[in-house]
Amino acid sequence: MIRPDSAGICYGDETPADRDTFGVLWARMRQAPGEGRPDFPSMHPMRQRQVQAERLCQVCGETASHTREGWLFLMNHDGSDIYEGAKTTKPPVCLRCAALATRHCPHLTDPVGVRSRRPKLWGVFGTIYTPTPTACLRPHHDHHLPYGDRALNWFLASQLVVELKRCTIVDLDTEFKAINP
Ligand SMILES: [Zn+2]
Repeated sequence: MIRPDSAGICYGDETPADRDTFGVLWARMRQAPGEGRPDFPSMHPMRQRQVQAERLCQVCGETASHTREGWLFLMNHDGSDIYEGAKTTKPPVCLRCAALATRHCPHLTDPVGVRSRRPKLWGVFGTIYTPTPTACLRPHHDHHLPYGDRALNWFLASQLVVELKRCTIVDLDTEFKAINP
């Protein structure tokens, strides 16, 4: 709903847990742990946020793989092979899950391993709402906004976005051999 001061959106029964430390409102979803299989695009907002912020593996929830070259992220080849500054909603992974995901995850059509020494909290992914003349809210889905943006008052976040800094492309097969020779 629209805030009483008309300066953004809020929940009618909002609690402090509905916003992150930057004051951004987060989507609520029925919590059903253990239901179904891991499905990256529809990861639960609260879980995605925690896993991304704490650099846990997005599949198993253990600490993600970290070496001198940084945290391991699985990306799809984008043709340019430039991942420095790439923004991603996909949290990092551990090596064991990376090996499984590159073989079985349908969303990774052409996987590339990117290690980032500094995955920086960048902003959020979600829905922007605009108020209509009749004081209703019109949703605009699938937007990225950086923290600090004024439009965040009208934003409902569902994914935390990190920017990959100080990146190195790694040879996944070599890394997998180290855990499973
Ligand atoms: Zn894992």
